[in-house]
Amino acid sequence: MTTTEQIKAVQNAVGVDADGVAGPKTRAAIAKKLNAGNSPKAIQTAVGVDADGDLGPKSWEAIYKKIAGAAPEPPAPEKPSPKPAASPAGAKGDLTGKQIAVVVGHEPGGGANGEREYNKVVAKHMRDLLEAQGATVFLYEHKTKAYGQRQNEMAAAVKAKLPKCWATIELHYDDVDSPDANGHHFQYLKTKALAVAIRDEFEKRFPGKKARQDKGIFMNENENGSGFLKKAPGAACLVEPFFRSNPAEWAFFSKLHREVAEAYCVGIANFALNG
Ligand SMILES: [Zn+2]
Repeated sequence: MTTTEQIKAVQNAVGVDADGVAGPKTRAAIAKKLNAGNSPKAIQTAVGVDADGDLGPKSWEAIYKKIAGAAPEPPAPEKPSPKPAASPAGAKGDLTGKQIAVVVGHEPGGGANGEREYNKVVAKHMRDLLEAQGATVFLYEHKTKAYGQRQNEMAAAVKAKLPKCWATIELHYDDVDSPDANGHHFQYLKTKALAVAIRDEFEKRFPGKKARQDKGIFMNENENGSGFLKKAPGAACLVEPFFRSNPAEWAFFSKLHREVAEAYCVGIANFALNG
């Protein structure tokens, strides 16, 4: 049984939409069932696995056994449809067999205040979520200061690890001198549909957050970040979800690593479905 199947079985058992993507609603329902706190750590403690706060395959195995494992096996599904219908509740795209690279923007010591640290956490959540949907995921952190060189190194490392890389995402956030600058945008060069899918899901999950120019979809041919978009294997998107320098945006997003990761991953799954 795959992790996604376990998540779906658990979702069925706790009475939430069985979309295979474990978000806050699923966690809350699991916590209630287990008489535990809402946090991933509390859930892990309740099912007897290492409480590291990251709900990965081992945790799901334990949650599944505790909640859904005793239930009789459901009848085998007919033939799984390769392209199930999208649901407004979340992603139903199947990422089985897809190779996806998640790149933390900037080299050590580079980037905006706290940017790499924030995005390292987002990247780990993305790995868990994408793997739970059947993808093979490679997390990459840049090493080199010179921009062109580090993007060449990134492309080589991704191709070595994921010879059939389907999509590569580079994680950022914005930071400027003015506290007033605000909003998100998603940059692309060749694959606009991926940026659109991520933007759509981001705006659905964070209603009221403002898009920057071009409704949050920015084709970047020559500006900062274009080197990544030119060299990244597969469909590429560079995400700029908010301004660290905007106090209201930072107060809103500073602890939402998991939720931001979910928005990206559901967007990616929706792109897989339609693109
Ligand atoms: Zn950045």
